[in-house]
Amino acid sequence: MIQIDVDMSEGSEFGRDLLSQYTSFRLATDLGVLSENECRMLPHLFAAADEMESIFWKQAYGDREELLNSIEDLALREYAKINYGPWDRIGGNAPFIGGVGDKPAGANMYPRDVSKEEFEAAAAQDPSLAGLYTMVVRDANESLEAIPYHEAFADEMQRASEELLAAAEFADDPGLRTYLTLRAEALVTGEYFESDMAWMDMKDNRIEMVVGPIETYEDALFGYKAAAEAFVLIKDMSWSERLSRYAQLLPMLQEGLSVPPEYKQETPGTDSDLNAYDAIYYAGDTNAGSKTIAINLPNDEQVQLAKGTRRLQLKNSMQAKFDKILVPISEVLIAQDQRQHVTFDAFFGNTMFHEVAHGLGIKNTLDGSNTVRGALKEHASALEEGKADILGLYMVSALMDAGEVEGDIRDNMVTFLAGIFRSVRFGASSAHGRANMIRFNYFLEMGAFSRDGETGRYSADYDKMIDAMNALTEKILRFQGDGDYEGVAAFVAEYARVPQQLQADLDRLAAEGIPVDIVFEQGLAAVGR
Ligand code: ZN
Repeated sequence: MIQIDVDMSEGSEFGRDLLSQYTSFRLATDLGVLSENECRMLPHLFAAADEMESIFWKQAYGDREELLNSIEDLALREYAKINYGPWDRIGGNAPFIGGVGDKPAGANMYPRDVSKEEFEAAAAQDPSLAGLYTMVVRDANESLEAIPYHEAFADEMQRASEELLAAAEFADDPGLRTYLTLRAEALVTGEYFESDMAWMDMKDNRIEMVVGPIETYEDALFGYKAAAEAFVLIKDMSWSERLSRYAQLLPMLQEGLSVPPEYKQETPGTDSDLNAYDAIYYAGDTNAGSKTIAINLPNDEQVQLAKGTRRLQLKNSMQAKFDKILVPISEVLIAQDQRQHVTFDAFFGNTMFHEVAHGLGIKNTLDGSNTVRGALKEHASALEEGKADILGLYMVSALMDAGEVEGDIRDNMVTFLAGIFRSVRFGASSAHGRANMIRFNYFLEMGAFSRDGETGRYSADYDKMIDAMNALTEKILRFQGDGDYEGVAAFVAEYARVPQQLQADLDRLAAEGIPVDIVFEQGLAAVGR
């Protein structure tokens, strides 16, 4: 369990400054909606999540205890827990402990000394080296060897598997019971396909468990390796009803995209669903550095093409970020006369549609030779996140035009602008951070917003924002459809940076003491059990 438990008078000033970038939030919800059996599942689900925690430490850094014990400064030790290692995730992965050197691009999932050339040559001979679920190590002959996660982390996977089976005993919902049982098996066999399919078939469960090696952001070398994480969530039934109807509109929205027909020829999954939850546990990858407020899974393109995806909106985490971060940011950086357009409903909507928008666009390159993810490698995540942000805004505006969604598009636009300032603070080491830098620079260039030199505040230009949105949509979907790795690399190099003026404005936010992100107080005590 992580929370900031350092007395702010302890530790160095350097350490306390770093820690002050985070503020605590208790992950709670009304457990009164759960049955007695559902409550009995929670300790098992939390215990399974804790195993992902320990796997992720090994993937991201190595030996957790050795690192923490070597840090005397209490504030920095706490900061290492938040970062799952000695590199500052919201500070461009800068080392904050002396002598550790730069963070390896492949974290601890590849040998530190491996070059891209060596790896690619070896992976051409042995494709398992590039697998989602393998660690790459050097064998006795210094050759590269792939070790499947269920062997590399056999103990953790075994314990997590047993906890999931114990939880499944109490699952009244048959879909949840099947999923937990299959997932328990997947963790120890490394075969995730069946459990991903079963996860897609769950519809009526009130408790939700996401667990396993899932996202590939931690692998900044190639974007191949999935990092261990877990969420335990409680479904918000009333919000979920309101959200479910939008998935039906995906095909219409896909048709309306402002790109040539060949870039929108794939059919978005229509079996996709969208639900709202309160989160009660985050573990591993998802608990490191900045916290996710929405989930779109599974990542397996086979499953996506067969069943679409499920999108999970984490409402209590979102409200925390809105209240504690976005509103204070807009008080500093958004023009006075537009500030009333920064609203939780718009923030919730933008985030919700970001997730839906992952389902739009294209998953395979036009020539059919590769998936977009495979073709764009380490740039795939930033581009995909940027796509989802921009198409999310497109969706809101299209659905408002169609009379499907009520509201004022100006709220979504100004909240979107404020959201860019929030997300560029995640830094260049985060795919979301890079996506927002790209959008900031691209939108500024197109006049979608402007900065008043006197007040130092930004205003959205609503018409030009629509133009910029359409132009960036086309640019990204072309890169993806063409599988244009070189083009994306050049684009990212040009746009994914923080210009001087923006850095000065971000420094003003820091000077005002506005936190960058949240750490969670979580666990049985936090939910009152
Ligand atoms: Zn996303």
